Amino acid sequence: MVSVLVNGACGRMGQAVLKAVQEDSELKLVGAVDLQGGMDAGELVGLPACGVTVETDLAAALTRCKPEVMVDFTRPDVVFSNVKQALSAHVSPVVGTTGLSEEQKAEIAALAEKEATPAFIAPNFAIGAVLMMVMCKQAAKYMPDVEIIELHHDKKLDAPSGTAVQTAAMIAEVRKKHVQGNPDEKEKLAGARGADYEGMHIHSVRLPGYVAHQEVIFGGLGQTLTIRHDSLNRESFMPGVVLAAKKVRGLKGLTVGLDKLLEF
Ligand code: NAD
Repeated sequence: MVSVLVNGACGRMGQAVLKAVQEDSELKLVGAVDLQGGMDAGELVGLPACGVTVETDLAAALTRCKPEVMVDFTRPDVVFSNVKQALSAHVSPVVGTTGLSEEQKAEIAALAEKEATPAFIAPNFAIGAVLMMVMCKQAAKYMPDVEIIELHHDKKLDAPSGTAVQTAAMIAEVRKKHVQGNPDEKEKLAGARGADYEGMHIHSVRLPGYVAHQEVIFGGLGQTLTIRHDSLNRESFMPGVVLAAKKVRGLKGLTVGLDKLLEF
């Protein structure tokens, strides 16, 4: 049994994680934290009362519950501090919250080594999204002109999505650097061509109705190839979160990306 504390327990993702952890026979929910507390973490998600009460002080909860793993789905502006608190308490963070910078990830990697406590970050826990990224890396070897369109619900705080940035980073590992589109192009409205990641353009759509979707379009002579993934609900992320919670203690330092836990 792996003991788990869920941080951001009352959020959309946090509630799905609370349910997934309680329904998995190899995971044990020992703590739940959010900005507002007092409710039972089972009843909160429509399960029988489990005796774990949502509390508001992460540091106190980490010390008292002594979980092996903290799953974090909170906010981009607090996740870095949460991860540092967990590592200092020798609790392995499994992080779904997006928005961590490369510098912050480097600091987390160093702290994970120093505290001899493994950490795991995935910008996308959906297996299908991971397969999409792996397939994009394959396609980019042969079709290096690529644009990414990511589509999310309108409550999302960061743009572009962590998945889009991770996809671009994976493509950049195999794609020769080159300028896409017309080098003389001019934007008549700022942002019309989206964000630029090493010459690849990333476009962020935010609308009610969406959960998490991404389309990667490769263009070649007389042809295009589109690779698309759709998370239709938040359950899509749970097998990946559960897998990471079970495996993180066997890793070393910081691991980024669910693909590292899968065999291809
Ligand atoms: P949400 O707003 O529904 O939930 C966030 C929760 O965190 C809220 O309940 C909020 O009260 C709580 N919170 C805020 N600050 C906190 C703090 N300091 N301590 C404890 N709790 C705090 O958001 P969401 O839709 O659940 O998404 C959460 C994060 O997960 C976002 O960054 C989102 O982009 C990311 N996300 C990642 C994946 C993935 O697969 N990696 C999938 C979906 C969402």
